[in-house]
Order: sequence, then structure tokens, then C-alpha cells
Amino acid sequence: MNHPDTIFSRIERYLLQRQALGGDIAYAAPIRGITAPLPLTAPENASALPSLPNPLAMKQEPLIRDTAWKNASSLPLLYDQIHQCQNCKLGATRTNFVFGTGNLNARLMIIGEAPGADEDAQGEPFVGRAGQLLTKILEAIQFHREDVYIANIIKCRPPENRRPEADEVAECEPYLYKQIDLVQPKVILAVGLTAVNTLLKSKHTMGAIRGQTLEFRGIPMIATYHPAALLRNPEWKKATWEDVQMLRKLYDTLV
Ligand code: SF4
Repeated sequence: MNHPDTIFSRIERYLLQRQALGGDIAYAAPIRGITAPLPLTAPENASALPSLPNPLAMKQEPLIRDTAWKNASSLPLLYDQIHQCQNCKLGATRTNFVFGTGNLNARLMIIGEAPGADEDAQGEPFVGRAGQLLTKILEAIQFHREDVYIANIIKCRPPENRRPEADEVAECEPYLYKQIDLVQPKVILAVGLTAVNTLLKSKHTMGAIRGQTLEFRGIPMIATYHPAALLRNPEWKKATWEDVQMLRKLYDTLV
């Protein structure tokens, strides 16, 4: 069955094509069984309009192939334009699109890898046990969760929490870049090696990359372990504590 939004999207494209070809007036035939209150009569030159395919029979195209979202002037507008994205295969298996949450003008932005099961169910990043641990880590360095902005590189959950694949990252990371441009954070905290290496297009180990000030799109960035990894490997908490203290000091020098 066609999803109603998909049908509306196709109808909208069809009308836009009609508008481009024939102007602002659309002519419609009466629907069988419904008496039209006004005569719907095509003008004499209507037959001169080129015929276009039935929108309901058109092949389904990804919804966000146009680039209007790149001009979004705020995060809510960006959300409106991309939350139905089907540009990669993860769109078909998600429960919820997980955009991002927090202070729209945050000075600290936290970037993770991709939604997990809890995030997929709730439509919000970093909820569940890993999210609760992140909140505690932030509070330990005097940040409230609602003061920062939190997002992932990938907006839809990969099945079985597998790592995002290269084509999925390529499709989705421009949305994150746009989020960064709109939030304009002073500092970024990247959590998890996949997030760090995806952002930096590198193949570092966490041991080699943590403990230093990195840079992403001109913004100072600190890397540390993902809270979900800390739940599995409590011995990494000491290093994480050092990283976030370094983050706090860096933040205080910049803000
Ligand atoms: S993961 Fe990103 S690119 Fe893929 S469908 Fe979801 S929003 Fe679109």
C-alpha cells in the first residue's frame, strides 16, 4: 500500500511540473460519483499541454533528492524538510527518524554514531542506559543536558545496531553538517570511534586519537568513548573522565 505522504509528495511534484509547464491554474475532471459544484472545463488550448505521467503510477523516488533543505534557516525547518527522508535503505527499517535534541544555540555539541533500539523507539538520540550515562557524564562537568545539542551522524537505526555503511554515511552526514552550521557550537564532543573516524575520514584507534584537541569544520573537537561502550567496558571510565575534564577546560577557554 502507498503511504499517504508518498502519494501527496508525488501529487505535489506532478502539480509543480504542471505549474512549470502550464501556469498556476490546474484543470481537473469530475470524480465519478461526485457532482462537482462548479463546471470543471478545460480551456480550448488545454490539449496543447504536454501530457505527463499519472503521479500515482510514477516510480517512487527518494523524497529528499532536491536540495531545498540546504537552505533551511533553522533546525525546525531543517527537520520539516528531511524527517521523511528515504535516501538510503535505513529509511525503510526505522521506526522513527532521530533528528537531534537540545539547545538550538548550544555552545557544546555532542555527536554520536547512530540511533540504537531505544532511540529508534523514542525518536530521540541518547536515551536508554547509554543516554542516562551521558547525562551523568555531562552533569559531572557542570553541563545540563538541555544546554547542549546532541545528534548522530546517521538519523535512522541500522538493523541489529550494526555499523553504518559507507553509502548510508554519505547520504546522511550532510544533514549533520547542516545541523552544525545552524547550531554553530564552539566545541564538539565526538563519542565513539566510529563517530570520530567518520567525521575525520580517518582510521585512528581511540587510544591514538583521544587526549588531544582535534578540529572538525574549523571547530575544536574532543574525542572520547561512547557511553554504550563504557557500559560494556567500565575500565574505560577513567580515560573518559580525563577526556571530559579536558573538554570542560577547553570549553571554558573558548566561551
Ligand atoms: S539514515 Fe539518513 S539518509 Fe538514510 S534514510 Fe535515514 S535520514 Fe535518510
